[in-house]
Amino acid sequence: MMHVEFFPVVVTKYPDDEDHAPILEDESLARIVRARDVCDGDLILASFDDQGRTDYFNDQYPASGFAYDRTCRCGVCCYFAHELGPVVVLADNSGWCDPWLAGALVLIIPSS
Ligand SMILES: [Zn+2]
Repeated sequence: MMHVEFFPVVVTKYPDDEDHAPILEDESLARIVRARDVCDGDLILASFDDQGRTDYFNDQYPASGFAYDRTCRCGVCCYFAHELGPVVVLADNSGWCDPWLAGALVLIIPSS
């Protein structure tokens, strides 16, 4: 038996404007996953807002996760230091980390 999880979110069309870089991958491959399930190389497209709608980033970026360190001094990790649940870091962006709550939903295009 295969476990399938349904997410209460709405994926909107990717914005077609000058603020958003074009997606160079096949958008039909996009999937919703928990942040803890993002793998290195997955292309991160969007988070979801409080209403469950896609909140696309201006540019996509590949995941290159590493362990969350609440004492990290990057200036971003500190905002998650008081979270009760687990936190994962999905990317290291040249000096500042990309921490997410492990259970947060992420729109990605899997690397494979
Ligand atoms: Zn950090």
